[in-house]
Amino acid sequence: MRHALHIGCCFVAALLIAPPAHAKKSKAKTGGAGSGVVRIGVTAVVDDQFAPLEDASVTQVLQNAKGTFAAKFGVPDIFFEAPKIVSAKAFFKRLPRDDFRACIARHEPRRVSRIEDYDRPRLQEGVAAFLSRWRLPALLPAFPPDLRATLKTHDDAARALIAEMREAALRATSARFENGEPVLRAKLAEEQNLGRRFVDWLCAFEVQSEADVVLTNAYVFYDLLTEPYPHAVYHGSRLAGAVMQSPGRTLFLGRAVFVSSFGLSGEPETLLEPSHQTLNADDRNKFVGTYLLAHELGHALLRIPDVYDHGPKCLMSTDYALGYVDGYKRLLGHQGRCSRCTIYTDARRALQLFDDALKAKKLKNAEKLAERVVRRMPPNIDGSVGDFAARIYTRLGQAEVEQRKWRAAELYLRRALAADPLHTEARVLLRRVHQQLNAPASR
Ligand SMILES: [Zn+2]
Ligand SMILES: [Zn+2]
Repeated sequence: MRHALHIGCCFVAALLIAPPAHAKKSKAKTGGAGSGVVRIGVTAVVDDQFAPLEDASVTQVLQNAKGTFAAKFGVPDIFFEAPKIVSAKAFFKRLPRDDFRACIARHEPRRVSRIEDYDRPRLQEGVAAFLSRWRLPALLPAFPPDLRATLKTHDDAARALIAEMREAALRATSARFENGEPVLRAKLAEEQNLGRRFVDWLCAFEVQSEADVVLTNAYVFYDLLTEPYPHAVYHGSRLAGAVMQSPGRTLFLGRAVFVSSFGLSGEPETLLEPSHQTLNADDRNKFVGTYLLAHELGHALLRIPDVYDHGPKCLMSTDYALGYVDGYKRLLGHQGRCSRCTIYTDARRALQLFDDALKAKKLKNAEKLAERVVRRMPPNIDGSVGDFAARIYTRLGQAEVEQRKWRAAELYLRRALAADPLHTEARVLLRRVHQQLNAPASR
């Protein structure tokens, strides 16, 4: 889907002992942060029934993500704003209520509301159709090794996946806290489950405008029936990390990052990550910063998709492992950068130059660079290529409008719409440009 639903990848404790660059960067806090520093707004959403997410651990997670991102990619230079810490209740309460409800209502037919939904006769067909987006060989690495030989068709894969979805839902709804309360009520639609279901977050992201990164300690069950990403399903149908649409935030071009720290300590034991007990408190923060947050930033900032064939050094490698903790440890054992990700970091450098030209209002230069950015971006990106190109051209179109260069604005807004015919912002701007162009010349 447009959100790389990702369940995380990778990293190395040792290389997080940050390079000296660190100290220098923190000065970037006020204004004149040089070219290329990306300032990321963070909100930590705390559900007090789960293992706590204290200020100190949020800070450590962010530091680790920054160090890992720098070590693995080098660009762009990232800077996290001081995180806002809020309770889960307060976070959901302050979302624009009508918009949030409308989004939930739109997704209602596609989410699971009780276990029996997994027996719906049409589900098999729908899931097989969803899985057909991938050729079978590209899909199999997301399935457990012992199952792969039995999956000859997309139908087989769908059947296996639905059985696992059902299993995971049973496990989730039967899990209890020590006080006997369920983590997830079996009637999944119940209000008490708010914030513990994927669709709640999907809609929160759609309507929120306060953060580029949302960290939470909550358990989040993947309740969308129609887009079951195999790597998510085989991770207990639990969402650990994702990049989701968030049109109110521009830093990641209309998307924002979600990361959950759940699964490493606390309760209930049946829902925790395999091998979680091998990580101490420090390791847990490193795991979340590295394997989850830095990985999602690879999607959000560099547009690298989940990959299966980049090898163990790659932060974006996503294949079936028994658990994330093991995947994380594998990554720790392979320092250095992935050479196959270079194409994305090069594209990002071009984007940086484009941004700088726009900021400096050097539009001729920005025009040339926009072409380069779009051309350099590999076709296999996280998210939609059309949407990405449309956003680049729309930004340029907007800058042309501000300079009253109506013809140039028209050209680039048309290019935006050629890349993504439904791009609303480009449409609105183009209408304005046409009004200008058609207005009788008074001067
Ligand atoms: Zn991913
Ligand atoms: Zn790579």
